[in-house]
Amino acid sequence: MIPKRLDFLVSPDLPPAQLHQLFDVAGHQLFLVGGSVRDAFLERPLEDYDFATDARPDRIAELLETWADVVYRVGATFGTVAARKNGHVVEVTTFRNEVYRDDSRKPQVTFSDDIETDLARRDFTVNAIALSLMDMEPIDPHGGLSDLATGVLRTPLDPEISFSEDPLRMLRLFRFEGTLGFTGEARTVGAVAEMGERLEIVSAERIRDELSKLVVAPDAGKALDRVVASGLATYFLPELPALAMEQDPHQRHKDVLAHTLAVVDKTRPELVLRLAALFHDIGKPDTRQFGKDGVSFHHHEVVGARLTRRRLKALRFPGEVVADVSRLVFLHLRPHTLKMGWTDSAVRRYVRDAGELLPYLNELVRCDVTTANPRRARAVQSRIDELEERIAELSAKEEISRLRAPIDGNQVMGYLGIGPGPNVGDIMGLMLERRIDEGPYSVGEAYAMVRDWAIAQGIPDPGPPPDEEE
Ligand code: ATP
Ligand code: MG
Repeated sequence: MIPKRLDFLVSPDLPPAQLHQLFDVAGHQLFLVGGSVRDAFLERPLEDYDFATDARPDRIAELLETWADVVYRVGATFGTVAARKNGHVVEVTTFRNEVYRDDSRKPQVTFSDDIETDLARRDFTVNAIALSLMDMEPIDPHGGLSDLATGVLRTPLDPEISFSEDPLRMLRLFRFEGTLGFTGEARTVGAVAEMGERLEIVSAERIRDELSKLVVAPDAGKALDRVVASGLATYFLPELPALAMEQDPHQRHKDVLAHTLAVVDKTRPELVLRLAALFHDIGKPDTRQFGKDGVSFHHHEVVGARLTRRRLKALRFPGEVVADVSRLVFLHLRPHTLKMGWTDSAVRRYVRDAGELLPYLNELVRCDVTTANPRRARAVQSRIDELEERIAELSAKEEISRLRAPIDGNQVMGYLGIGPGPNVGDIMGLMLERRIDEGPYSVGEAYAMVRDWAIAQGIPDPGPPPDEEE
């Protein structure tokens, strides 16, 4: 009897049975492997299907062409061919022997004819279980099933060997701690502490992809803590270990690292928001000062935004992610500067500066409260509650999400009879400031303002404004 959770293996409508048939007829072996087998046993939903075969990449592609909607050669150098059929994504990889990635830009792979060799080269025992589609027997030479049962991550070969073959596996170790809630076996984690530096040969793009999965993991905070404790963070995110400093001499607060990781865990698991949580206090070590009123971190959000941009760029994050995350870091203290309550103009300015990031910014500010003092915690929450109410209130009265002056630059130039130039920028800026400070005003009032300004500038009086529809 096949357990219900493994039904997908035999369903004639799903890739495993269909591909087994296809490869079997062609005289090739086919195994379900890696994350698919692991997740099936853990009863986690399968995102995609990973297969391994003795067929070489060209042959895999030929066979898949006859079955799939699209076929693409993702990692032809690694022997991987991907395909999509009826919304299912499959990846079929030729059995591998060794993968040399010493210089990550020139990966080299040698193929093998048996599944056992392939499994020994995989990253962790729980990812090194194959399931034969012929007889549904698991092939588990490294004790992966028992590690799955106990939630342990260990390498199939000696960790020193596995990690020197591909140092990215050290980061994957903690990534899987975060996503699966498993724990790295002591010896495996110990090897990371010894060999962390080897991560430096790995390309920024591969590190970025693992970090991106790690920060949105259910156990991200704990996993990141272990990335720091093992020393690995030093080699790709040195700003993080730098946060493990005392926040003040009286230890009234947690250290900044513990606080940061707690904030990460409180935010929803979305990449931009989680990265902002991770980086929000990154400017503190550089701005820390001890004064008579205790410790201060003046402008740490400004310094932090700059450090954030630099690090995320170095890790090759897309420009939009870099811009959004560093903007959130830059703005994360804004609500605290407005303790006095929210004037209309403060609300407009906040909404304008946050732009589309407003929901993330509010969430970051709410989550950035890890104090044990319930009164202080409540004070911050009610400040954000009040802000959100004020935003809703003001939005009902006026368009505040895209603030503009009542007339545009062309109208100004037409009225004054001047061409484009810094002059025009100046008056446009003044009109926008007025809109923020005072709220909506009419086209007529805008022209009157332009006229007064022009006269003060020594520009000839343009006369009464044109008669325009408001
Ligand atoms: P996820 O559910 O996050 O996709 P996964 O286990 O499927 O997890 P992938 O990165 O998709 O992870 O890789 C698929 C399989 O390929 C892994 O389960 C593992 O067996 C193998 N693998 C991937 N990367 C490596 C690596 N760097 N070294 C060794 N084996 C790897
Ligand atoms: Mg996968």
